Amino acid sequence: MAQDGTSGVVTLSPEQGERVRGVAAGLGGLSTDDLEINRPELFEARRTGEIGLIHSWELVTAVDGPGTRMTIFLSGCPLRCKFCHNPDTMEMKEGTLERIDDVVRRVLRYKQVFRASGGGLTLSGGEPLFQIAFTRRLLKAVHDAGVHTTVDTSGFLGARLTDEDLDNIDLFLLDVKSGDPETYEHVTARQLQPTIDFGDRLHAKGKAVWIRFVLVPGLTDSEENIQNVADIVARWEGTVERVEVLPFHNMGADKWDKIGLDYELKDVAPPSAEAVEHAREIFRSRGLTVF
Ligand code: SF4
Repeated sequence: MAQDGTSGVVTLSPEQGERVRGVAAGLGGLSTDDLEINRPELFEARRTGEIGLIHSWELVTAVDGPGTRMTIFLSGCPLRCKFCHNPDTMEMKEGTLERIDDVVRRVLRYKQVFRASGGGLTLSGGEPLFQIAFTRRLLKAVHDAGVHTTVDTSGFLGARLTDEDLDNIDLFLLDVKSGDPETYEHVTARQLQPTIDFGDRLHAKGKAVWIRFVLVPGLTDSEENIQNVADIVARWEGTVERVEVLPFHNMGADKWDKIGLDYELKDVAPPSAEAVEHAREIFRSRGLTVF
């Protein structure tokens, strides 16, 4: 189903509800070739958040936060998760350059839909805090207009958000990739501690959080690792509204091939239903609400 004249497709995922996807085009967006042509001007526009590099957007229901949402995927991510479903968002190479005012206008077009469904805007990626100036301006403008805002983040760059920024974000989807520092580093090529620090800060501020944990056979599914994730999340009791245990799937494999990166998990099968339920039980045993 196309939205606003943007070509797109509908996919139905039993796990995740309906997604309507379109490329981030049609906003007067600039070609990424302009990066080469106008590099100094673009550098400045991106530094101030006047322009951002958007990979794609989706209209989603029952995923990425409550209600019907516009999820905008921003390019750029400092992590290198072995199970990444969107490896084409890791580098600042793919996407369309968009002006902040155009993006705000587009989001606000859906205000009535958001209001009727209890939905809003979700920023994802990639890592939405990577292009912090653009993300900051977008969240403030949309939140000031009365739209519910959600940020889907690993928390690795959480220190980039000021307290004022936090006031413009209603819900965090905090991805905790692993509970052991060594496993976390093996899985993401980055450190675990910034995520814990960010979660502690959100908890101290009383911010609503949904935790996401991806169960990957042979990578994140050891009993000890899951127990450690559950222990970390249990620290944030009272502000964590739910935990989502997401079974690994291989649907991103083609994207790894396409961008010429080695996908180490191509022969890894999804976890069994029993393994997923066992992981969920570990979180439930800490008194957490689990999906
Ligand atoms: S944080 Fe997300 S976008 Fe970044 S590498 Fe990991 S899974 Fe991919």
